[in-house]
Amino acid sequence: DEFIILLPRTRSAVDAQKVASRILKSIAEPFIVRSQELHVSTSIGIAMYPDDGITAGELLKHADIAMYHAKKLGRNNYQYYSKKLNEESAEKLKIENKLRHALENNALELYYQPQVNLVTGQVLGAEALLRWEDPELGKVSPSVFVPIAEEYGLIIEISEWVINEACRQAQQWITAFSMPFTMSINISAVHFNANNLESMIAHALKSSRLAPGHLELELTETSILRDLNKATETLHTFKCMGLQLALDDFGTGYSSLRYLMKLPFDKLKIDQSFILNLEKQTKGTAIVAAIISISHSLGMKVIAEGVEQEKHMQMLLQMRCDQVQGFYISRPMTAAGFEAFIRHRARQTA
Ligand code: C2E
Ligand code: MG
Ligand code: MG
Repeated sequence: DEFIILLPRTRSAVDAQKVASRILKSIAEPFIVRSQELHVSTSIGIAMYPDDGITAGELLKHADIAMYHAKKLGRNNYQYYSKKLNEESAEKLKIENKLRHALENNALELYYQPQVNLVTGQVLGAEALLRWEDPELGKVSPSVFVPIAEEYGLIIEISEWVINEACRQAQQWITAFSMPFTMSINISAVHFNANNLESMIAHALKSSRLAPGHLELELTETSILRDLNKATETLHTFKCMGLQLALDDFGTGYSSLRYLMKLPFDKLKIDQSFILNLEKQTKGTAIVAAIISISHSLGMKVIAEGVEQEKHMQMLLQMRCDQVQGFYISRPMTAAGFEAFIRHRARQTA
């Protein structure tokens, strides 16, 4: 399903563009096959001789990179190859390779950040956050490597590891500390829309013996918006399995009230961008108060993330926010660090 077009007499980029536009236009016309109307999308990558390469191999490779870029931009468009694009993809490919090795060598780690009841101070659970340190690249943030893993199809394997490890750890802590505890894990939109998430979770719960009510999935709006009907169905399946569902980064996307009403979320996480400057922005404060009030009316709990200051705690308490998570309480910690944290809190309250 890939074709190469050689334009031997074309000298300028504009000429190539004219041809690309004509191709896009004619393929966009519906095809009638056995009285069915079929629509085909096209993505075109353009590489120019001699600027983008001297050999056929170089030109093909660069046209290919540009074509993938066009695909990523939503198909039905053309893109020129550029050196920057090449460097970017080489860098990504390097990260992907190293990440794959890290996964195979069990070199990924989960850190845990406490989620706390704002009124009583009780630790209710933790969010599991991926950490990766590469010998050459150093610490790489999940906000850098998760999107790359998504793009290169590695996210599902990583996610499987996260789900298993988080369930195992949660069950161990529940047994060791005999306390109510919810483990929250982040689920990528790519994995949410794949078909194997449900069975992976069921399997992890079974082998860790963790009761489903102790596992919470954090999803973002991106997950849901891709296909609202399918997402609704999937979310209901998770609820039937007994899992907790949280909507992460609320307020940064479309934040549509219609789907808040329709979807079975237990908890809403107010994005940290609203919390970090809470004391400075009166409008921001009004929005946070409104989000809390709407969530409560819809029967959901609210957690604020990115709580860094005592002041934020006070303001959120006044606004009747239920839970908090942030550097003010603790940064994400290793499993050992989290255990020490729990023991220390237990001694304080005893
Ligand atoms: P997120 O799920 O919204 O996670 C919260 C992020 O905020 C974490 O960044 C956390 O370390 C950071 N944070 C927590 N408290 C504070 C605070 O008080 N102030 C500030 N400035 N930041 C705070 P982190 O660990 O770098 O993760 C970034 C994102 O990467 C996460 O955002 C999540 O979307 C993604 N991610 C992390 N782990 C996983 C994972 O296991 N699977 C998937 N699919 N995504 C993950
Ligand atoms: Mg999260
Ligand atoms: Mg978040």
